Parts: sequence; C-alpha cells; structure tokens
Amino acid sequence: MTTKATKTIKQALAYKPQHTVWFAATQDLFNRVVAFYFGVIQAHPGILELPDKEALTALERLTHATKQNPHPVMPLSAIAHDLPAMFRRAALHAALGSAHSFYTHLAKWRKRKERASLKGKPFTIRPPVPPRSWNTSVTCYQGMWKHGDGAALLLKLWTGSSWAWVKVRVSGRSLPEEWQAKSPQLVRHGSQWWVHTPIQRDMERPKKVETQITTNPGIRTCAVDLNINEHLAVCTVQTVEGTVIATRFIGGGKQLHGLRKRQLGRIARKRSKTGIIAEGEQDNVHLWTKVRALDEDAAHLVSHRIVEFAMAHGAAILVFEHLGHFQPEKGKYSRRANSKRSYWLRGRIFRYAKYKAWNEGIVTCRVNPRNTSRDCARCGALVARYAAGQSAQGYTPGAPLVFCPACQLRGNADRNASMVIGKRLLARYQNRSPQEKPSTPLATERSTKVEGNVRSQDAGRRGGPSTVPAWHGTSVEHGTTQDTLSGMEECVSGIPHQLQRSRSSPHGTHTQNADYVGVPEEAALL
Ligand SMILES: [Zn+2]
Repeated sequence: MTTKATKTIKQALAYKPQHTVWFAATQDLFNRVVAFYFGVIQAHPGILELPDKEALTALERLTHATKQNPHPVMPLSAIAHDLPAMFRRAALHAALGSAHSFYTHLAKWRKRKERASLKGKPFTIRPPVPPRSWNTSVTCYQGMWKHGDGAALLLKLWTGSSWAWVKVRVSGRSLPEEWQAKSPQLVRHGSQWWVHTPIQRDMERPKKVETQITTNPGIRTCAVDLNINEHLAVCTVQTVEGTVIATRFIGGGKQLHGLRKRQLGRIARKRSKTGIIAEGEQDNVHLWTKVRALDEDAAHLVSHRIVEFAMAHGAAILVFEHLGHFQPEKGKYSRRANSKRSYWLRGRIFRYAKYKAWNEGIVTCRVNPRNTSRDCARCGALVARYAAGQSAQGYTPGAPLVFCPACQLRGNADRNASMVIGKRLLARYQNRSPQEKPSTPLATERSTKVEGNVRSQDAGRRGGPSTVPAWHGTSVEHGTTQDTLSGMEECVSGIPHQLQRSRSSPHGTHTQNADYVGVPEEAALL
C-alpha cells in the first residue's frame, strides 16, 4: 500500500518594484472571483453534494457564458471579463474548498445544537459564519505560469487593466527532483511576494498503530507531553515492554511567552488609543503579523524537533494526549490573549508534528488525557507534585517535580506525564489481549483506577477529538509556570544515568526549516 508524503517549498521572488501592484491586483481579482463563486454555491448548496468534477461543470454552467450556454443564471461577466480559463478554474476550486469546509462546520454545529436540546441543556455556542472578507492566495494552474531559464519563472499577472507575462527570479532552496510539484501559489509575506509550491512523493503507507504494537515486539513509541510552560514539549521514547530509552525536553516556552506578551501589550495600548475597532476590520496588521509569525515559527521548530528525536531513537509511533478545552485566564488583555495563544500553539504543534511524522513513515495517535500529570508512570498510583525546596506532598498544579509515595519514584513532572502518555497507549492494546503479554510493569498500572479510562478513548481511530468532553485537571495543571531548571537537575537523580545525558538543552539553536513552512491543509489533516 502506498500513500503520499506532502510538504511545501517556499521561495522568495525577486521582481521589479513596479510589479508589486500587479501581484496585489491579481490577488484582489482572484478573491473577488472566489467570493462570487462562494455566493453562487450558497445560492445552490446542492452543488456540494456532487462529486468534484460534476460540481465544477455545474458551477461553470451557472456562471460562464458559451455558445451553447449564452445566458447563464449568475453570469461571472457581471464582475469580471476575459478571465483566463485556468484562473477561473483555480478560483472555483478555492471557493468549493471553502464552501465544503464551511458547510461541514455548520452541519457539525447543528448536530451539537440538536444533541444539546435533546438533553435539555443550554447551548450557547454561536454558529459558524461564512467568510466576510477573502484573503486567499492565488493558485497558478498550468497556463498561468511557465518555467523561465535558470531560476526564473514567468507568471501571468493582472495589471488592473489587462493580463501580462512577468518574469520573476526565484531564490531559496530549489524543488527536490524526486518529489512531484503541484500548482504553485503566490503568497504575500508582509510586502514581499513569495511562491509556495506543494510537493508530493509516493511512500509506503505506515501500518496502523494497533497492528504495529500487537505484531512487532521491537516497536518503539515516542510519547509527547505538550505544555504551555518553559518545556513546550517533553518526549519520551519507550519500548513495548515499557522500558524508557530516552527523554528530550524541548524548551523555549518562556522566551516565546515573553516575546508574544510584549507584542500583545503593544496591540492593547494602541487599541486603547484608537478606541473602538470597526467590525470585520483587522487592526494593527503589522503587530499581528509578528505575533502570528512567532507562533508559526515555534510550532514548526518544536514539531520538527519532536519528529527528529523520534527518528533518532527509531520510534515508529508518536503518542499525544487529547487536548482539553481552553480555560481562559483572568487578567489584562495581553495576559488573556497570551495564554489563549499558548494553548492554541499546542494544537498546532500536534498537527505539524503529525504531518511531519507521516512524511517520515511515523504514525500519530492520541490517548485519554485524564490524570496524565497525576499518575505515577511506574506504578500508576497518584503522585505528589511539588516545587524544589517544598516537601514532597500534596498536589501543586504546574510544579516541576513529582514523588510517588507508593513506589518512591522521584522525577520531573513533565517527563513523568510523557511516560504515562506512552504507557497508556500500550496498555490499551495489552488490555485487549492479555494472554499475549506476560506480566509487564504495566500490570500494576492496569489494576489501578486508570483501567476504566484507558479503553474509553481510541486515539488510533481516524476521527478527531471532537467528541472528547472537557477534562478537569489537565488544563488546570498546565495553567502556571513555576518550572525551574535548577529544580529539575535535582530531581533527575531518580532516573537512570544514561537518560540524564540524553536530555538535550532546553534552549536549542533556532534552525530554519524552509521545507515545512506554509502547511498545506490536506497534509495537516492526514
Ligand atoms: Zn509509583
């Protein structure tokens, strides 16, 4: 069985300054056409039931005048004349994609609402709204671009009054030859225009998690605990027997938090000066671009390191916990907004890690997050969580150290959580077929209160976490940032020596991953 590995190559374009307005004009025109087609689909929602090709034909018949079809119902010519066929096609596809996504969300919302009303519960979630403004990048189908000589590219751009071929230079890494390139997109980053080219490659489809765990005794998992404190991710590689091979702490959370908070604070101050913001209008565009870039970089960097670590230790499965619902913090705008973005970042790290891992033949799954921070990774009893210098008892959410009164395990709290996550996945399959597995360290864990939960959430399934209810505990524990590095050094004594050494510095160097920027949605959904 084969499948596709997908990623996007991002290249900066060099062009004459006067052509900048043509790029912008082309994108504006494209978005007007996308908005038009979205409107047509809203007027004829039946189109979404059709297979892709028939949907295209139906939309063209409704909008495009030809000799056989001189008077379409909703003529495109009302908003634009003489569009190249492939430009129109690309806009049509973009509109269909948005419409599919919007109506899927709407259907889900209706279902949830109905379920709530059946149970007699109040339902306050607002329905999804169709896009009010469009800011889609232009996809250049065949015929809208050509290869020039060397690193040059010819693009067909709208000047505002006519179509013109423009020669541009491409810089950055070139497209790898063994990959197959798809239609490039023209993307604006600040004031600079770039070309993003999705590329694909056939690869062997990785086996399902269950198959791998139950049939391959040599398999290793890499369990990841995502946090909103300094250690954005803590990864532990384990064998099926539960032997821990290595742990990696991926830090940088505090720095990111600080940088982001500063930008959000600036936005808040500027807002307070300008007063009320017009609805549907983006304020402080430049600052928001910075905030988004910070998160995007961090998500790519952390997810890249997770996958890199899993590969270095031969792990074939990535395990995460389902992420609970966000519980807003109190305080100033910058604080609230910052904690919200930290929370979102975890979801993004998960999505990016998932597709990067997939490209390397590593499958990703999720387990029930209940008590992953409160259980002991060795024996499953409830641990005490405390800060360095405190006595090892009670439970202080967010504190860096754990101590298990039942088996005397001491260690870093985030590392313990990542081990619990990994064991939970193994326990799921070992529970199903106990006769295959003799007693393992998991036996004790299974006998404790964890048992009921292990089977309740099947992360191996294709479906997302949409049905997962809010878990108490998880979001509370991650709410504070009291992690101290010095405290961690002390506690590692309970961990075998080779593991201490394999821990990498929480402040790694910032590397550029040009090949991973601009994630294609379809890859993220794999
Ligand atoms: Zn224990």
